[in-house]
Amino acid sequence: MGVPKKHKTRSGRNQRRSHHALKKTSFATCKNCGAAVMPHMPCKACGYYKGRKIV
Ligand SMILES: [Zn+2]
Repeated sequence: MGVPKKHKTRSGRNQRRSHHALKKTSFATCKNCGAAVMPHMPCKACGYYKGRKIV
């Protein structure tokens, strides 16, 4: 790996880190019980996915 020869400026460093923030996690609501569930995952509370009981 290359080693940086010079320090980057504070503004350059901060501009690079401007993309580092985490996005808030998205979730869907279960159609059966209304609980918050991860998208594309069966509901942890009632086990339903796409209107059918899976678990
Ligand atoms: Zn549910």
